[in-house]
Amino acid sequence: MAKRNPSGSHYRTRPLVRPLVSALKAYVPGEQPKIKGLIKLNTNENPYPPSPKVLRAVQQAIDDRLRLYPNPTAEPLRQALAKFHQCTSDNVIVGNGSDELLAMSTRAFVEPGKGKSENKVQFFVPSYSLYPVLADIHGAEKAPVALRSDFSIPELEQSEWDFEAPLSLITTPNAPSGRGYSIRELQRLCQAQQGVVVLDEAYVDFSTHDAMVLARKLPNVLVARTFSKGYSLCFLRVGYMIGPKPLIAALDKIRDSYNVNGLAQVAALATLKHRNYYQGNFRRIIKTRQQLAGALVTSGFKVFPSETNFLLVKPPGFSAERWLHELRKQKILARWFHAPEVRDCLRITVGTEEQMASLLRTIEKILKLL
Ligand SMILES: *Cc1c(COP(=O)(O)O)cnc(C)c1O
Repeated sequence: MAKRNPSGSHYRTRPLVRPLVSALKAYVPGEQPKIKGLIKLNTNENPYPPSPKVLRAVQQAIDDRLRLYPNPTAEPLRQALAKFHQCTSDNVIVGNGSDELLAMSTRAFVEPGKGKSENKVQFFVPSYSLYPVLADIHGAEKAPVALRSDFSIPELEQSEWDFEAPLSLITTPNAPSGRGYSIRELQRLCQAQQGVVVLDEAYVDFSTHDAMVLARKLPNVLVARTFSKGYSLCFLRVGYMIGPKPLIAALDKIRDSYNVNGLAQVAALATLKHRNYYQGNFRRIIKTRQQLAGALVTSGFKVFPSETNFLLVKPPGFSAERWLHELRKQKILARWFHAPEVRDCLRITVGTEEQMASLLRTIEKILKLL
């Protein structure tokens, strides 16, 4: 029996919350403010809505079936994805967003604990700021490796890169820079790597590179994709991984039953049926991105090359943080990161042509303050 203190309650000899969790710095998602008329360019959402056919499919699924559990393995969706990517459904796992699958990868492939090679979650910096948090949550060692200042991959043999690391997470094209990597370069890295490599292709739809071939032919490679960015489905949370059967089977063992909700499965299936609509949006966003990049260069911004639906830019005059605030005062929300490699920069999501015209007008106004 625990001792009682004078007020009658028990003295606690141990904290209720694990020390690891108490000390944890949680992931900070981009804000979702409810401000009327706000131009929201901070979380790389697609400015165009899902296909009307997808909206109809979701609406038609809202009926008596809401009382039933959805397909526990997302089987019809996995079959459709297998067909799309020329593999079998044993090569596909679906998640509640690709974030869930990234988290599951740490649990399936990395021993918790510190100080040993088998405990490492390895990633480049800058890249997706969720990765170090996933390592921390798992109690694993985080192993950041610096990209070059132009965000290219460094000469790995001359860097901190650990070819023994059990899990390496690579954002390709990179976020927050937008830089794309060639499949040859990624293949060389994956082939030299002892552990699992996850190629996180959240932005692949806006890129000229597509590493899916590596997931189909190498035993240690998983490609992560999402319906969030290209397919305008952030709200429903659907992502997936493609890869060799043994890796997919390992992830499947630790998956929560019913991890993907029924409406998300319906929406993703309908999306795959109507891919033409989305390909039009990809082209439109890429075109807007190129026009925006040109206009920003003319206004004195440094613009990093992008194969994504956002631009990383170094603004003139004021600090990037000041620009963030000045834009926000004019109801335009961009993203700024504390990380030293990018703290001089803003990340701006490519929106509609009208939104970008409004952004450029606002920038001209702010430049007059200089
Ligand atoms: C947005 C994003 C994801 C998350 O996608 P969800 O499927 O919405 O969880 C994963 N990786 C990167 C690099 C992203 O930018």
